[in-house]
Amino acid sequence: MGQSRAIRTIYDDPMWETLASGVLRLQQCCNCRSFRYPPGPTCHRCASPEHKWKPVSGRGQILSWVVFHRTYFDDYPAPYNVVAVKLEEGPMIVTNLTGKKPMGSWIGRSVELCFERHSNHGLVPRVKLAGDDHRNVED
Ligand SMILES: [Zn+2]
Repeated sequence: MGQSRAIRTIYDDPMWETLASGVLRLQQCCNCRSFRYPPGPTCHRCASPEHKWKPVSGRGQILSWVVFHRTYFDDYPAPYNVVAVKLEEGPMIVTNLTGKKPMGSWIGRSVELCFERHSNHGLVPRVKLAGDDHRNVED
């Protein structure tokens, strides 16, 4: 087992740079105004290459979730969860739910963005249940 490694490209470097300051910015198309994730060279709706990096609210709802019971990387010991979250701006992100966990199904639960410090990656985006007072950054 090893530590997880970020795979960064020229398209998502700007996003990772703003994450370091605790802000999630995504590409917003200058033509149709849709947000896109993962970052890429053109809009998935209208194919325009023009975009700006805009902060997103960080609010969304859980679309799906899973708990892994096998450790793949030492920095993600089992059990750990992975959630797919639809942001209110439209894109879906995949991350981890931190803090309190819902009873029963997690699908449809409202979440908000928070950040945790990762030993290799600096600040990384996570989500917490809306209203959970879980700390934003663990030092
Ligand atoms: Zn577009």
